[in-house]
Amino acid sequence: MELVYESLYIGGKWVAPSSARTIEVVSASTEQVIGRVPEAAEADIDAAVAAARTAFDDPVGWSSWEPAERAAVMERLAVALDARAGETARRVSSQNGLPISIANAVEGGFPQLILRYYAGLIRTAVLDEARDGLLGGKVRVRRTPVGVVGAIVPWNLPMTLAAFKLGPALAAGCTLVLKPSPGTVLDAQLFAEAVDEAGFPPGVINIVQSGREGGAHLVSHPGVDKVAFTGSTAAGRQIAETCGRLLRPVTLELGGKSAAIVLDDADLSANPQDLFLSTMVNNGQTCHLTTRILAPASRYDEIVETFTGFAAGLAVGDALDPATQIGPLASAAQRERVEGYIAKGLAEGARLTTGGGRPAGQPRGWFVEPTVFADVDNHSTIAREEIFGPVLSIIKYETDEEAITLANDSPYGLGGTVWTTDPARGQAVASRIRTGTIGVNTYTVDPAAPFGGVKDSGLGRELGPEGLTAYQALQSMHLQA
Ligand code: NAD
Repeated sequence: MELVYESLYIGGKWVAPSSARTIEVVSASTEQVIGRVPEAAEADIDAAVAAARTAFDDPVGWSSWEPAERAAVMERLAVALDARAGETARRVSSQNGLPISIANAVEGGFPQLILRYYAGLIRTAVLDEARDGLLGGKVRVRRTPVGVVGAIVPWNLPMTLAAFKLGPALAAGCTLVLKPSPGTVLDAQLFAEAVDEAGFPPGVINIVQSGREGGAHLVSHPGVDKVAFTGSTAAGRQIAETCGRLLRPVTLELGGKSAAIVLDDADLSANPQDLFLSTMVNNGQTCHLTTRILAPASRYDEIVETFTGFAAGLAVGDALDPATQIGPLASAAQRERVEGYIAKGLAEGARLTTGGGRPAGQPRGWFVEPTVFADVDNHSTIAREEIFGPVLSIIKYETDEEAITLANDSPYGLGGTVWTTDPARGQAVASRIRTGTIGVNTYTVDPAAPFGGVKDSGLGRELGPEGLTAYQALQSMHLQA
């Protein structure tokens, strides 16, 4: 059954779009059309920004409310999302191929966790601090909401990545225009229903499904005060250029090519689930995954065998099947891109140990087999560029020092892991890796900890108390003693 929508959620109402253009949604597993939503044209994005602007500028509106009042509405949104958790997960899974067991845990629950976290944080946050100045006067340091936020998200974990922005922005008192990716629009419509039910003042959250032109229009819109973007490094650079010219604050969460350093004392059989989650979850379509496996020469053959067996043993299937560990890629274009990298890996001399093709028994859907390359040179294309598919590259090293050098020799700096039976040694190695996040024998994205990258992986941080400051402006008010 197709899900067909005819209106956009702007200014607290379902409104008719200004054009007849639509976005067709196709299932990644079956290649069947499963839905259609209106595509927001520039006039719709203008209307959304105007609604967010009016809501923000209202002197008795959302941005002026007591933090506890905002927190209460955010918690109502979390309750409305709880009620839609299963359907949200199903829609995401159908659209982008995220296996349903993971979609239930992440897309069905993580947004609420983030909303509740920031609701709690803002209730107790110090937003107005009195200080003694050094020159005899008093100073009030106020943290005010930064304004109207243009939030742009990709298709891989659409609701979770939207919540990375919505949670802190709403808590701070900002209003938003959210632009989902054209690849995941049906979950966004369900989200709009939850927003409507939660009872936000009109215009606090507006949703405009559109492509990159719509995104670019939003980024440069005169009514937007801050941009928050998650997506590719290429798009992030363009957005950063625009924001640089406009002197507009921007947070960028971009791509990655993170390293898993397997130390010579590691026991990879101890945490199979951690290994899966940090290397292959979401069919490899997750930005922080450690897709470069650094293996010590002293245990090289055994580690290649372990990863080969691990990848070959993953259950590949329809994303909606609860037993599936690896679903299809999100689109035909995404599969073509991943297959192009596999061909490049072979052409550049890497040794394929498993996968590399399309799985047997999957006549439909954009599937690629879980794939492992051994004997990869850290300077080859598959070791440097983000593949965004279920493809691991194993690189040999001789000493811990060399492993650290190889891990840091990347244009990216988002995540990473260290595998060892000696936690102190693991933390010592982890602290020398130049990335925004890293794990020892595990990898987690926790709402309480800042998330983001360095180098080509982006600018700024989301999550944690640090993520809130990205949506606040500082004002120092000088007073007589
Ligand atoms: P993408 O950059 O093509 O698109 C992301 C979003 O930005 C979409 O909504 C798209 O419509 C919009 N967009 C694209 N170009 C734009 C432009 N010039 N101006 C404004 N908006 C624009 O990325 P994608 O293919 O949808 O997602 C995959 C990428 O996202 C990967 O590179 C992945 O690593 C990255 N990602 C990063 C994180 C992170 O937190 N660091 C998380 C998930 C995904």
